[in-house]
Amino acid sequence: MYGDPRRFDDLMGLALVEAAAAPATGDVPVGAVVVDADGAVVGAGRNAREATGDPTAHAEVLALRAAAETLGRWRLDGCTLVVTLEPCAMCAGAIVLARVPRVVLGAWDPKAGATGSVWDVVRDPRSVHRVEVVGGVREDECGDLLRDFFENQR
Ligand SMILES: [Zn+2]
Repeated sequence: MYGDPRRFDDLMGLALVEAAAAPATGDVPVGAVVVDADGAVVGAGRNAREATGDPTAHAEVLALRAAAETLGRWRLDGCTLVVTLEPCAMCAGAIVLARVPRVVLGAWDPKAGATGSVWDVVRDPRSVHRVEVVGGVREDECGDLLRDFFENQR
């Protein structure tokens, strides 16, 4: 699967399904899945800050926790994290700590993104671990979900 753009599109579809479920609890629609080296989904998550009252309940953190539980280890080498929105600084830090080798993201976040936009935590030369970043996968769909959510909030 590595490097196959169609595969990334399919995986982003799964992350989009997660994201689309978030507004049911008033949460911003961001979704994430973690797949192993064979492309099997080992973790999934969506933004659940409102649902849980937990400021750290971002889609990526929840997906990483689920993947670690599935695999029985904290070190997620060989895995790919697929997320609808560019990770924030906290999530980028968690990705580095989990030793995830690759992130596939949908929409860039020019206000708070930390995998290339505002910061680049995952490719910082001082970092203990470097991450490959594949951006802009189904970017319009990922961005539209967010735009629709915030427009409906007004
Ligand atoms: Zn985050």
